[in-house]
Amino acid sequence: MTFEKLGLIPQILSALTPLGYTKPTPVQTKVIPFILEGKDVMATAQTGTGKTAAYALPLLQLLSKKEHKEKSKRALRCLILTPTRELASQVGKSVEAYGAHLDLKSCTVYGGVKLTPQAKKLQNGVDVLVATPGRLIEHIKQENVTLSKVEMLVFDEADRILDMGFWDEVQGLLELLPKKRQTLLFSVGLSKSVKRLGEISLKKPLKVEINNQGDLARKVKQVIYVVDQDKKSALLSYMIGSQNWHQVLVFTKTKQSADEVGQFLHESGLKTLVLHGDKAHSERTKALRHFKEGSIRVLVATDIASRGLDIEELPHVINYELPGDAEDYVHRIGRTGRAGNEGVAISLVCQEEKNVLKEIEKILKYGLKVEFYKGFEPKIWLEKEAKKGTIRAKIDHEKANKRSIGIKKKRESIKESKAKKGKK
Ligand code: AMP
Repeated sequence: MTFEKLGLIPQILSALTPLGYTKPTPVQTKVIPFILEGKDVMATAQTGTGKTAAYALPLLQLLSKKEHKEKSKRALRCLILTPTRELASQVGKSVEAYGAHLDLKSCTVYGGVKLTPQAKKLQNGVDVLVATPGRLIEHIKQENVTLSKVEMLVFDEADRILDMGFWDEVQGLLELLPKKRQTLLFSVGLSKSVKRLGEISLKKPLKVEINNQGDLARKVKQVIYVVDQDKKSALLSYMIGSQNWHQVLVFTKTKQSADEVGQFLHESGLKTLVLHGDKAHSERTKALRHFKEGSIRVLVATDIASRGLDIEELPHVINYELPGDAEDYVHRIGRTGRAGNEGVAISLVCQEEKNVLKEIEKILKYGLKVEFYKGFEPKIWLEKEAKKGTIRAKIDHEKANKRSIGIKKKRESIKESKAKKGKK
């Protein structure tokens, strides 16, 4: 893909050459054509993905094609909101560089510096304003700028804007902005509040996820079984044995746990080797070789094996315990489903690990469905079910009682009315 093919005009292309941008990054390829069509976008992209150019290049192009309506003074038409002064300053510089050959004026405002020089620039009129919410509101109050002519709005790092407590300010700003506008929301993560902001500010947006951990992990089928810690090893050997799996990589959190699980599986009759940092180099390479060749069925390993172990057709990865660092989960499950093959990653999660699971979901940016393995359901759940069973039985009993009392009463009243009729 080239920037030219994305539909960018020569004045913009010529500004990219000195910056060393030879081809667009994935986020740029995905969103630039949509933004050029005037559509709203909601994108999750980290800093470093080229997200600034992804929104700024097409917006500058759209602005340059429209005539300034008021000849005497430029009206603000594009507002870019950022959480911090550092990001505002960085974005401001990029906007200037990208628009070097366009007849557009931009300005950057943030707190912690004098208001007056910023006010003067704003009063002279700008097309593009990069601002932090607090300082922007100060300028609006002082009537240095108005948002009534804004046609394009960008939230850059929306999650951080909201994390920093700017929700009320953002809502206030949305009320001042024209309803008819193009809005782009860029965020590192998709928290509830970011989604809410998307709902109130965007119209039918194109949704884009770039290079995040969730994308990488999505290729692998993930299964989570909630199980008590003391039932994990039994479940593990049962799963491997009953389904006749022949190449299973099992991850534990500690070396000790790896040794214990390895011993248990070995005693259960499954050919198993253990790989962790305390093993001699020769033992580690031997374990790996045997596992790759298929002469052992199970390799139990700590996280040293979660990066770099590339076996093309590894079908099963089991997390006997979730990793201490949530990011390692992605590396671990990335050991399966490689080279386009289907993979399954199963995690055995006990009550105490539920917080780690939440951390993992945050990194993946989506929730994971939890299940119980029949015959290995956790004690808490079994007790709850038993309680529910007793309550259900009690309710049924009371209902039956009520019903029989009703029937009895009905019968008595029929008898009474018959007796009355007889008397007559
Ligand atoms: P950003 O994610 O917008 O903070 O950009 C990260 C860095 O990548 C910045 O230094 C940009 O100048 C640079 N950059 C953005 N797009 C490209 C591209 N297409 N080619 C090379 N560098 C780029």
